[in-house]
Amino acid sequence: MYRVAIIGGGVLGTSIAYFLSGQASDPSSIALIEQERDIARHTSSRNTGKVHAPFLYDPVKKKMFARAASLGFEMWEKFAKEKRLPFVRDGVLEVALDEKGIDRLQKYIAWGEANGLEKHELRFLDKKQVAEMEPNVMCESAIYCSKDGSVDYGSFTKAFLQDLKSFGCSVLLGCKVTGISRRGAYAISTGQGELEAEFIVNAAGGNAVDIAHSMGVAKEYTDLHFRGEYWQAPEKYHDLTKLSIYSVPRHPEYPFLDPHWIVRADGRREVGPNAVPVFGPYAYGLVRNLADMIPKIIESSRTGARKIAFDRQFLSLAGAELKSSLSKTAMINRVREFLPAIKPSAFTSRGTAGIRSSVVDSTGRFVPDTLVLKRDLSLHVLNYNSPGATGALPMAAAIATQLVEMGALPVSKARTLWDPAEIAGRIDNDRF
Ligand SMILES: Cc1cc2nc3c(=O)[nH]c(=O)nc-3n(C[C@H](O)[C@H](O)[C@H](O)COP(=O)(O)OP(=O)(O)OC[C@H]3O[C@@H](n4cnc5c(N)ncnc54)[C@H](O)[C@@H]3O)c2cc1C
Repeated sequence: MYRVAIIGGGVLGTSIAYFLSGQASDPSSIALIEQERDIARHTSSRNTGKVHAPFLYDPVKKKMFARAASLGFEMWEKFAKEKRLPFVRDGVLEVALDEKGIDRLQKYIAWGEANGLEKHELRFLDKKQVAEMEPNVMCESAIYCSKDGSVDYGSFTKAFLQDLKSFGCSVLLGCKVTGISRRGAYAISTGQGELEAEFIVNAAGGNAVDIAHSMGVAKEYTDLHFRGEYWQAPEKYHDLTKLSIYSVPRHPEYPFLDPHWIVRADGRREVGPNAVPVFGPYAYGLVRNLADMIPKIIESSRTGARKIAFDRQFLSLAGAELKSSLSKTAMINRVREFLPAIKPSAFTSRGTAGIRSSVVDSTGRFVPDTLVLKRDLSLHVLNYNSPGATGALPMAAAIATQLVEMGALPVSKARTLWDPAEIAGRIDNDRF
């Protein structure tokens, strides 16, 4: 019997366990439940590894993502220092390839300032200034943001395990949640037997919508999954740029960002990710994708997702993504538009793909922000996509604070690197 069961050992669930057990009077009454044999096996280790500056996020439509990202940078920087893990403040260039893109850059500058970036951290550059900064990059103009970093979120998440153990939190690995029912407390069936909890936090990433549905929550939503694939650049391309280069997304209302030129924390360079529609959150390969196909089609036909099948723009974009999955040349050529020196034939190894699960509402629209739904004694975090890793610590602090306010467990002085209640106050969690 636990006071709080947190389902999902990704960066979010693990950070929630950190903030809760770091202040609980009895940390062993908190269980972090992960289906895999180790934490951070899925999206949290399969991403671009950027600590994103919050200029890409509309402060109104993406309020939660924007606020969490704006607090995340300093928190991860401090955490990396404490754990002696790499945190490279390497900056990013967001490039516009046409007039429409330039308008968007102006918008990004306004959003960046509204989300707390200082003027000197976000500079508009014309074509000539871009050429001086990154001679191999071709574009009409760009934004240079100095407050953007590169990390390895997988190792960050694993570093929390030492803290969770020292606090005394119960960590259950290789323990898949297969069913949840309410008998006073929640009865949670797992591959390792049944356990009980008074409160549940659903931080199961790509599986969070299915878990919510199994508890009768968020029935008006469904999710669609998109596999982001990468190609690793050969060493001869490592000096092409100092900065990561992102291009302005042409269709920001859909989950299709154009692939980037990525500088990783360990110095590797990659091209990616695309966003190929797949049928499940773990459909990294063909076999699993086919196995997930029929159930997902049946589920989608009963929800708002079926309306997307008639959205011509979506279908045409999805087709282009599929093409860039099947053809390396098609994928690399998307980045060649602004980095013409790269040649598809030089790319011989794929990088590690990750899957994002985007929530769709009953009208068939993609939900722009993260959703934290409170039902009875459970909290469900849905649509936790990019920049979810950047904002995981502040989000987790806010969720932990909310649980304490719901009376989930008695607490004493926090032993965590930050005071969760103070961070929660800065993120504004009215909507939970
Ligand atoms: C291609 C790509 C690139 C990205 N790039 C960036 C980036 O550069 N910067 C950034 O900030 N964000 C980025 N993101 C987003 C970021 O990676 C995610 O927002 C974040 O990792 C989500 O963390 P999570 O803990 O919610 O999910 P996950 O890491 O998926 O963790 C959920 C966990 O729940 C477990 N689980 C699921 N079901 C069950 C069950 N039934 N029982 C027990 N356990 C279960 C899973 O095994 C998993 O470990 C990217 C995402 C993708 C896909």
